[in-house]
Amino acid sequence: MDKNPEISIVVPVYNEEPLIEELCSRLKCVGDELNRSYEILIVDDGSDDGSFEKLKRISETDKIFRLVRLTRNFGQQSAVLAGFRMSRGEIVVQLDSDLQNPPEEIPKLLAALTENIDLVTTTHKKRQDGLLRVIGSKVLCRFGQMLFGKSVKLNLSSFRVMRRSVIEKIEACRDRSRYMAVLMSWMGLPSIEIEVEHHSRKKGETKYSLLTLTKLSWDLVTGYSSFPLRLVTYMGLFGAFIGFLMMAFLLYQRIVNGILIEGFVVLLAVFAFFAGVQLLSVGFLGEYLGRVHSQVQARPDYIIEKVIE
Ligand code: UDP
Ligand code: MG
Repeated sequence: MDKNPEISIVVPVYNEEPLIEELCSRLKCVGDELNRSYEILIVDDGSDDGSFEKLKRISETDKIFRLVRLTRNFGQQSAVLAGFRMSRGEIVVQLDSDLQNPPEEIPKLLAALTENIDLVTTTHKKRQDGLLRVIGSKVLCRFGQMLFGKSVKLNLSSFRVMRRSVIEKIEACRDRSRYMAVLMSWMGLPSIEIEVEHHSRKKGETKYSLLTLTKLSWDLVTGYSSFPLRLVTYMGLFGAFIGFLMMAFLLYQRIVNGILIEGFVVLLAVFAFFAGVQLLSVGFLGEYLGRVHSQVQARPDYIIEKVIE
């Protein structure tokens, strides 16, 4: 297979052992019905549950599958990025490996990729996930939308179809934080959003706990906005303003009314307030400094252990 396929289907896998066979057979089934040349590129994000061994066996017997193994778990975004880079198709499909995004919907997405469209994103009527996961996602999305404002239409779904040009544009973003869905939304490419089915996870469990989601939101905030820094400025202004009013009041009492207000409690309250603002400011600055630090280090997003084709 020397010629590049027309379509690449990119799937990140992290510990999805019970689903591997079904995933591979359903993907292949859908692919064969497309009547276009294609490849299925699976990125094993450092699974340690036997997923890789299963995937290896499958990709050794069927050359439609290409398998990339990362040295350890680098996270979904890095795995997807690795997949994008390894893919060869002019059109790239991205979907989760847990079959929550039904592969059978791929033709619908491909059909929506008309001449003037570069990116097809998805929504679903009802997200088939645990309550916490759904709420977590909603909050993340709302929050992100608030940061970006109306000019960016945020879509965080991991089921999408895009042209190669989109991936080239992603490469041009030199961010450390490569939150694929956010980057794609931010670019404001000619895109269309279509509604697809969403299934519940039949086996295994979500890799996104509340803690991971919180980390992700924080990454979203510091990676894509300087709102916290601005917040510090506002708090500083507020603090200074309050301080000024208090000084004015104390001076007024002393000079005009001849009253000297003493109060340890007042002092304590004021002190606590300013100490809080200062610590928070240093913390926020530190967050950004940390980002700059990792940007300067410029470590790769992932390390590939081996490629099986
Ligand atoms: N995933 C991954 N690396 C990770 C976590 C997840 O490659 O560190 C993959 C996982 O195998 C799945 C997809 O990313 O295909 C989405 O993960 P999950 O289903 O746990 O997320 P949710 O459906 O809850 O958003
Ligand atoms: Mg899932």
